[in-house]
Amino acid sequence: MESKNYSKREFLKIAGLGSLSLIFWQCYDFKKEEENELLTESDSEPKLNSNPEPKLEFTDKDVIFITRNDEKYNTLRQGFNKRFDKFPKTIALCLTTIGVQAAVQKAKTDKLKISVKSGGHSFEAFSCGTDSMLINLSQMNKTQWLENDEVMLQPACLLQEIYAEFLPKKRIIPAGSCGTVGIAGLALGGGYGFFSRKYGLTCDNLTRIKMVDGNGNLIDSKENPELLWACRGGGNGNFGVVTEMYFKTHSAPNSFSSYRLKYRNLNQERFMQLIQAWFNFTGNLPQEAFSAFVLNGKTLTILVTNFLNHNATFESSFDELKNLSDEYKPTYNQPLANALKRYYGRKEPLFFKNASAGLYKGIEEIQDFLPKVFEKVISNSGMIYQINTLGGNIQNSDFEKNSSYPHREYPYLSELQSYWDNASAENKFLTAFEEIQQLFHSKGISAQYRNYPDINFPNWETAYYGNNYKKLQEIKSKFDPEDLFSFEQSVRLK
Ligand SMILES: Cc1cc2nc3c(=O)[nH]c(=O)nc-3n(C[C@H](O)[C@H](O)[C@H](O)COP(=O)(O)OP(=O)(O)OC[C@H]3O[C@@H](n4cnc5c(N)ncnc54)[C@H](O)[C@@H]3O)c2cc1C
Repeated sequence: MESKNYSKREFLKIAGLGSLSLIFWQCYDFKKEEENELLTESDSEPKLNSNPEPKLEFTDKDVIFITRNDEKYNTLRQGFNKRFDKFPKTIALCLTTIGVQAAVQKAKTDKLKISVKSGGHSFEAFSCGTDSMLINLSQMNKTQWLENDEVMLQPACLLQEIYAEFLPKKRIIPAGSCGTVGIAGLALGGGYGFFSRKYGLTCDNLTRIKMVDGNGNLIDSKENPELLWACRGGGNGNFGVVTEMYFKTHSAPNSFSSYRLKYRNLNQERFMQLIQAWFNFTGNLPQEAFSAFVLNGKTLTILVTNFLNHNATFESSFDELKNLSDEYKPTYNQPLANALKRYYGRKEPLFFKNASAGLYKGIEEIQDFLPKVFEKVISNSGMIYQINTLGGNIQNSDFEKNSSYPHREYPYLSELQSYWDNASAENKFLTAFEEIQQLFHSKGISAQYRNYPDINFPNWETAYYGNNYKKLQEIKSKFDPEDLFSFEQSVRLK
């Protein structure tokens, strides 16, 4: 069977740059329906765990242990990336923090490593392992509002649920755009989106966490501030299971404007002219604005967003790019909720390989070999090269001091993406992907975003965590001394 190259429209949906036809409520209701069904059926079953750990009292209202023969096994182990098919020995479907503690106890007793899944969107399926215990948190998705507009989120709150809950209250946190990403995986590895240049990364807004550690103890970061530091960028599946996340929230803007520019049939010369113009423009971007540069085959899409009321001065700041474009579509002052829904993207699992392709300070670091990147991307149909703006308040020195996210000085994050709909196309895409990654690496691009992992990164420890890796190892030794939480790129014990 033939592999499918996604059409531009399909690609835009997948990449979260899609149209309004991706209705939020369809997506939301579907997931809830499936999960409720899981719970209702399980509730009526006899207790699966008839032999709990003596010290901890729990029931099947706290955790349900599921094995391979259970009909829900496949649904509960599946992540967003269909490229992976992993088979945990036991799945602990946790409903409460006590349930998580019981699951950790059981893993210790059964001598199983643990992987932790919230939204299931890990690019490399790090949230599920084979022959280990999968702690599935999908039912732990409650929200609690506190004083001073602080909010407690359970780990599997999905971004579309958070926006649906927050926006009527006129509050936001700076988070990502894809509706089905889980808050835990996002915030523990950094987290950026349209509001980050103003309010910092998602992890910078995390004020407190509670976590069940590798000893089965419930740890509060109030008493362990170094754990909060670690979980602001380095917390994905490394030290324990985060069960509560406290965030400060911000006033939501009233409206959101987006400006989409398209360029077709690019050749190398025009590509170089456009990327230079884009870096010139984004070098002076206001903190309320964001931009993405997306090369898909010979078509370039530039997205610019701004959550200040539309104004002509801002729009004229990218006149050069507008004048060079084949198509220009501005959408002024949309209500924020409607605007965000446009970027929720696909909810169904996909075959894909996505990864960070380097963080940059500016075009100077990549200029010399950009023509090669362009040629490789256009000669591998289905390959997408994207650069996103970070910078702004993400570079705030207090955020830097208080978090393990190490890459504050890089205002640009690039990523490679490829999608296919048939498993047999995988090799072709992975080979081309690796060639481009090698090119970046050979030219000295080595800082990478932890939430866009690539299993093939050499020296992933410093690529993700820079100089903070050693301290993360110390924290690992304290909270997970038996290395229960372990996967291909988990922080290692010293
Ligand atoms: C379609 C798509 C769009 C994306 N868009 C953005 C974006 O706009 N901005 C951005 O910054 N990132 C984005 N990402 C990347 C995203 O931030 C990461 O994939 C994130 O880790 C997903 O979190 P999750 O909870 O959904 O995934 P999971 O697969 O459940 O978890 C991811 C990692 O976190 C660990 N983890 C999960 N829950 C816990 C917990 N409770 N305690 C401890 N460890 C835990 C897992 O073990 C795993 O290592 C996107 C990813 C996809 C697939």
